[in-house]
Amino acid sequence: MSVEAAHAPLARTKDDTLVRIRDLHVYFNVRRGPFLKRHDVVLKAVDGISFDVNSGETFSIVGESGCGKSTTARAILKVETPTKGEIIWRGLSLAKIDPAQTKAYRAAVQAVFQDPYSSMNPRLRVLDFVSEPMLLNLAIGKKERRERSERALHQVGLRADDLNSFPHEFSGGQRQRIAIARAIASEPKLIVLDEPVSSLDVSIRAQIMNLLKSLQEDHGYSYLFIAHHLGTVRYMSHMVGVMYLGRMMELSESEALFTNPAHPYTQALFSAALPDHPDVERKQVLLRNDVAAPTEIPPGCRLHTRCPFAMPVCANIEPEWKEIGPRHWTACHLI
Ligand code: SF4
Repeated sequence: MSVEAAHAPLARTKDDTLVRIRDLHVYFNVRRGPFLKRHDVVLKAVDGISFDVNSGETFSIVGESGCGKSTTARAILKVETPTKGEIIWRGLSLAKIDPAQTKAYRAAVQAVFQDPYSSMNPRLRVLDFVSEPMLLNLAIGKKERRERSERALHQVGLRADDLNSFPHEFSGGQRQRIAIARAIASEPKLIVLDEPVSSLDVSIRAQIMNLLKSLQEDHGYSYLFIAHHLGTVRYMSHMVGVMYLGRMMELSESEALFTNPAHPYTQALFSAALPDHPDVERKQVLLRNDVAAPTEIPPGCRLHTRCPFAMPVCANIEPEWKEIGPRHWTACHLI
C-alpha cells in the first residue's frame, strides 16, 4: 500500500501547513495541600498557544522545564486531550476524526524520545520494535512490514541483519538510530522529536542531528523538535517558539530569533545558555525570582514577577501578540 493510500482518510489543505495549533489549552486537575485539607487545583500546562508546522520544516519549542513543551507534543500525538482549542491536521480537526482517520493520523505522526531503551522490550527483537507502529496503524502484511523495516534500518545507517538482534546489543547512539527507523518505517509526515539527542555524547549527538537533517532533506519530513539545548535548536530549526508557563512568548524564524531576540524572556534564556561570541554583542538579561507554579500563574504578563523591565501595567494587563517582522511575533508591553 502506498503512503498516500495509507493516509487517504486525511484530507490535504491547499497550502503547505501540515498542522495548525489554535488556542491550545491543556489543563490538569491535581490534588494539593496537607492531609485532610487536600483540594483540587488546576494546573495550566498549556494555556492558549497557536502555531503552524509547515511541510518539510522543523518547528522547535524551547523553554525551561515545566513550560509546557512536552505536553504540547503529547497533545499533538493524541496522548493528551486538549481542554480547549484545536489541533488541525491537513484541514481536519483532530477532535472530530473517526477511528479510521485516527489510525491514519497515528501512522502519519511518529515520535522519537530521549531514551529509546526505556520503550524497548528487552526480550523483543529490533524487528518487533521497528514494525510495531505499522502493525498497529497500517493495513499492510508481514512481508511489507519486514521490507519497510529493512529499508528504514538502512536509511539510518544500520544493517538489515540488525533486525534480528536485541536492544541490549546496541550502543546509545545505535538505539536512537533504531528509534528513528521505527518512526520513518511508517512513512510519516510529521515526527515529534522530544529531546532526541539530550542523553547522547556530543560527537554522537552531532551524528544523529545530521542524520535527522538529511532524512528531512531526502523525504520532506516535518519535525516538531522539543529541546533545551539552544545550539541544537538553532542548528535544526526553521521556526522556533519560546514558551514560558504554558504560553508562547515569542515565535520567529530561527536565525532572526537567535540574532535578534525581542522578548525579555527569550533574551534571558539566551543570556543564560548561549556562550558570548566575540563578534556579537549580546544584551545580558537576568531574571529575578523563581518561576511561578503552573497552578498559580501571575495575572497580566505572566513574566512580570521575574522580568527586570516590568512596569505597573505588566502586573494587570496581558500584552497583545504583535507581528514585529517577517514570520516574527511577540507579546510584551515594551515592544
Ligand atoms: Fe517584562 Fe512587562 Fe514585557 Fe512582560 S510585558 S516581558 S513584564 S516588560
